[in-house]
Amino acid sequence: MRRALVAANWKMHGNRVFVKELVSGIMPALSGGVNGVDIVICPPFPYLQMVDALISGGEVVLGAQDISTHECGAYTGEVSGSMLADFRVRYVIVGHSERRTIMAESDQVVVAKFEAAQRDSLVPVLCVGETLDERDQDMAEQVVSRQLAAIVDKCGVSVFNRAVVAYEPVWAIGTGRSASVQQAQDMHAAIRRLIALHDDEVAQSLQVIYGGSVSPENAPELFAQPDIDGGLIGGASLNADLFVRICKSVS
Ligand code: PEP
Repeated sequence: MRRALVAANWKMHGNRVFVKELVSGIMPALSGGVNGVDIVICPPFPYLQMVDALISGGEVVLGAQDISTHECGAYTGEVSGSMLADFRVRYVIVGHSERRTIMAESDQVVVAKFEAAQRDSLVPVLCVGETLDERDQDMAEQVVSRQLAAIVDKCGVSVFNRAVVAYEPVWAIGTGRSASVQQAQDMHAAIRRLIALHDDEVAQSLQVIYGGSVSPENAPELFAQPDIDGGLIGGASLNADLFVRICKSVS
């Protein structure tokens, strides 16, 4: 039986006052945990230490939004996996569509970040998903297959024993237009099938979460699907009440 996972991706939002208020709003409801759900908060780098202090002693854990491919050295502006681990970060988002498109991160860079995360015992949350154009051309599965194959070809399938996959159709992120329950379930099942081609056991235990305009209204039905193991939450995670309701809607 797979555990569910709900992760908050705050992106580049907030300041110290906002972060304090948001985490203080979340923690009374979530610090003791929600049965069977791993809960992760991924703030911007400068707020990692603050969030770590605010969540300490509870069940909520820390994630980061990015990681350097390098271990240390002359890489101005970069943050390494060991530095993240030093702040008790447990998860790191890699391959988010905003980084793939705005920062032009290739599949190869995503693979290097995935490897960097695991090198420092962090769990990569690998984002995969198609653009609207690609969906319209019936290429959704092909795109996700290519993004997964980049990892499997370089690292082998067993690395997915220590990873999470987030299916995030690009057209659903921050648009208020979620994938339909059926579209999401179909893609999650496809992702599991693609991994199962290499190793069925790895595929069956892999947490595959959905991201793209998740709200308290659509979360219960999405999370009830057999292959959807939770969510990566952007906009709604910036509101304590919405995020708590989403976490509690895992059945
Ligand atoms: C995201 O940032 O990964 C995301 C899914 O955002 P939103 O929930 O706002 O669509």
